[in-house]
Amino acid sequence: MSITEIQAKSILLKRKKIDSWFISRYGMNLYRGCTHNCVYCDGRAEGYYVEGVFGRDVAVKVNAIEVLSRELDPRRKRTPFKRGFIMLGGGVGDSYQPLDNKYQLSRKALHLLCEHNFPVHVLTKSTLVERDLDIIKKINSQTRAIVSFSLSSADDAISAIFEPGVPPPSERLKTLQLFKKEGISCGIFLLPVIPLITDTPEKIEETVRKASEAVVDFIIFGGMTLKDGRQKDYFLDALGKHYPQHIAEYQNLYRGQKWGEATGDYYSIINKTFHIAAKKYKMPQRVPPALFKDILDENDLVVVMLEHIDYLLKMEGQKSSFGFAAYSISQAPQPLSSMKGELRRIKGVNKAAEDIILEILETRTSSYLEHLLAR
Ligand code: SF4
Repeated sequence: MSITEIQAKSILLKRKKIDSWFISRYGMNLYRGCTHNCVYCDGRAEGYYVEGVFGRDVAVKVNAIEVLSRELDPRRKRTPFKRGFIMLGGGVGDSYQPLDNKYQLSRKALHLLCEHNFPVHVLTKSTLVERDLDIIKKINSQTRAIVSFSLSSADDAISAIFEPGVPPPSERLKTLQLFKKEGISCGIFLLPVIPLITDTPEKIEETVRKASEAVVDFIIFGGMTLKDGRQKDYFLDALGKHYPQHIAEYQNLYRGQKWGEATGDYYSIINKTFHIAAKKYKMPQRVPPALFKDILDENDLVVVMLEHIDYLLKMEGQKSSFGFAAYSISQAPQPLSSMKGELRRIKGVNKAAEDIILEILETRTSSYLEHLLAR
C-alpha cells in the first residue's frame, strides 16, 4: 500500500439539488482511493481521476478537518446551508477504510458536524464505524443520524471474492443491529447487485429477508455499472478467474454505454425482482418520511417526496411524471408556499401533483406516498 498525504482545497461537495436517495445536499471525501478494493468499484474508472493503483494507493486529505471547520463556519457563508443530512461516505473512498484507524478523519469530521448541529447520514462497508457510536449517538440526540451499509448480497463467500477488503455481510448486519439497539435509524443500500451472481431472485430475497430480520428502516436497491476501461477490464479479469462461464453474457449486458449502464431490459428485470421481495418483507424501498420530514426545507421536502412517489410508481410498472415535476421544482427560486395559486405553472405539475404538493406544504406529509410505501 502506498499512502500520500495531500492538502485539500475544499472538502464539502455541494449538489445542485437534493439527493433523494440519501436525503442530502452535501457530501465529502476524506480519502481518494480505497483499500477495500471492491472488484466492481467505479472509483477505478478513468473519469474519477484517482491516481495510482486503485485498491492499493490512497491519498489522505490531512488538512481535511481544518478545511471542513472553515467551510462549516456560518460566519463565512454568504448563503446559509441548505437543510438535510450531510453524507459521510460514498464517492471514491470509504471514510471507514482501515487507514481511518490511524488518521481518524471520520471521527473528527463527525465531531465538527455535531458541534454545528447537522444531521448526518453515514454510508460505509466497514464495521469500523462502531468506533464512533458515541458521537453518532450524540448527533442523533441533537438532530438525527442514519447509519447505512452497502451490500452486494448477504452472502459471505461471494463477498469475499468481490469485496476482499471489507468485513463479511454477516458482520455488517451485526453492526447495523448494534446501532439499531442504540436507537439510531439504519438502512441498507443493496447496491450494486452483481449480474448473474447476486441478482438472482433467491439471492435478492435472502438479502431482503436478512435486512428485515435486522429490523433496518429501509433498503435501497441498484444495479451495477461497468465503464469501459480500467473498471471493466479489472472486473472481467476477476470474473474470468471465478465465474468464467459468465463472461460472454456480461459482454451482452454491458455494451459500452457512456456511464457503463447495462441494458435497460436487464435493469427492469432486477428492479422487479427486488420490488417483489421488498413487498413480501414489507421493507420500505426509500428512506421513510419520518426520518426527514422535520429536517428539510419545504421545496426539498416536496422534491424528495415526489421523487419517491415517482420511483415507487415506476417499480409498480406505472407511468409517472412526478419525477419531472420534482426536477422542475428543484429549480424553483422561491418557496413553494409563496406560489400556492400558481403551482400548475411549474413544468410537469398537473392536478395530481398539485394536490400532493399542497398536502405536503400543509402537513409535511403525503398520504399518497405513505400509501405507496405501505402496500
Ligand atoms: S468500499 Fe466503496 S469506495 Fe471502497 S472500494 Fe468498495 S465500492 Fe469502492
